[in-house]
Amino acid sequence: MQAAIVTVGDELLAGETTDTNATWLAQQLVGRGVDIQRITTVPDRVADIARVVNEHHAEYDVVLITGGLGPTHDDRTMAGVAAAFGRSLKLNDDAQSWLETHGGYARDDLAAGTTDLPAGAQPLHNDVGVAPGCVLESVYVLPGVPAEMKAMFERIEADFSGPQTHVATVTADEPESALLNRFEELRDRFDVTVGSYPGEYVRVKIRGQNENTVNEAARWLTERVETA
Ligand code: AMP
Ligand code: MG
Repeated sequence: MQAAIVTVGDELLAGETTDTNATWLAQQLVGRGVDIQRITTVPDRVADIARVVNEHHAEYDVVLITGGLGPTHDDRTMAGVAAAFGRSLKLNDDAQSWLETHGGYARDDLAAGTTDLPAGAQPLHNDVGVAPGCVLESVYVLPGVPAEMKAMFERIEADFSGPQTHVATVTADEPESALLNRFEELRDRFDVTVGSYPGEYVRVKIRGQNENTVNEAARWLTERVETA
């Protein structure tokens, strides 16, 4: 299963808020065997949201989008998702009555637009906050507030699966450029992908579908580098 994550918010693009939602979602999805192909951040603008949702929906099996839910002027995500599918936004009766029953909100207490969802979308109830999310085909719309997003993700996590990827890390105390030939040989010998992440040391991440192969590859490399 290939997935794209989209985070929405002018404050993310301005560097005012750290995009922890994308990282958290990626970790959850990768842990379930999902292959993340894109993480994209867009402003609070309907046309940008619609375009990227439309493109990613065409290309990947699932799209998860967070942020920009609610009734304020800069909450444009539902309108963007609706536009991506050529649908209107309309009050969702199921989301409205769930908030009345479970949230203790009278209809008149909720700001206008709170339960507006793209026509035909299935609402995702918000156990922690107010604004509902939704699922439309294979696009999942989640809140931006991290606690709300995490609680809502629990409602949908069973939808995401794929073959488990195994990872082993070898930490090398050598310059990255000195390791190139050994990386090449490692990739020739074993059916794995190799990621090289320099820092104080070089962290070499070996990934593959077969756990034994990954472990053998890690052993092979460990025997041939200065380890930290
Ligand atoms: P929003 O749903 O866009 O109104 O966002 C509500 C709050 O959630 C914001 O004030 C941020 O603090 C937080 N938030 C939104 N998007 C993210 C994100 N991608 N990562 C971390 N926090 C976020
Ligand atoms: Mg926002």
